[in-house]
Amino acid sequence: MNIRYLMPLMALFLTACATEPPAPDPAQDGGLLWVKHSAEYRAMTEQVYAKATSDLPGFIADKSWSVIPGQDDAAHLPVAVILDVDETVVSNIDFQLTFERPFENWKLDEWTRNTVATPIHGVRKFVESARAAGVTVFFVTNRPCERIDGIDDPCPQRQSTIDDIGEVGIETDAEHVFLSDERGWNREKSTRRNHVAETHRVVMLIGDDLGDFLPCVRKKPYAPCTNSATGADRMKMVEDNARLWGNGWYILPNPMHGSWTSAIPR
Ligand SMILES: [Mg+2]
Repeated sequence: MNIRYLMPLMALFLTACATEPPAPDPAQDGGLLWVKHSAEYRAMTEQVYAKATSDLPGFIADKSWSVIPGQDDAAHLPVAVILDVDETVVSNIDFQLTFERPFENWKLDEWTRNTVATPIHGVRKFVESARAAGVTVFFVTNRPCERIDGIDDPCPQRQSTIDDIGEVGIETDAEHVFLSDERGWNREKSTRRNHVAETHRVVMLIGDDLGDFLPCVRKKPYAPCTNSATGADRMKMVEDNARLWGNGWYILPNPMHGSWTSAIPR
């Protein structure tokens, strides 16, 4: 075939290859609409925090109780609970509905700087009652420490996260907020949970992602994990830890994003 006739065909082929399927419309996304508009979502978050609040005194009193694997000699340590931040303490539903796809961390950071954080219902009262009982509250988030052009601070996300938590009525500081990619940490949260467990008896974990409770839950492993977790692996992790759900581990619903998306068969 003459090259003159081939060129338009090739151009057409390349255009077809470059055309991605259209991104899903957030305004039509059932998960986003449910979080934004349903009374049921609010009822669930209140339910989770009410159960955590009522369970806490028993865990404080039982000095043999810890939710960290291997922490079996912590009776002498002060008591702590560990909370995730996004969709556990602060709601980012309005960001999820409006951000320009694809997701990038700086977009969330910029949005949180320019908006007043919305609380997850129930969290403030829970933290107040935990602190009133002498419990230290730590926040372990996978918001990453990374440089932002034009800002001197090598980890500006630390302060924006502390500010976010403060905006929902929970005062905290850099000693109690642990981000990803600081102090040698990565997205694998078990390392940070173990860090808290060096100084505290950790009696409760609260989050919206399997990774807020268990190590090595992702398709893409982060050190010290080496294996890629499949959907079946993740289901088995839930089953193997049945005694802890609603009894030391409290999980909030998040149909919007999380490590679960890596388990979707493609
Ligand atoms: Mg979260």
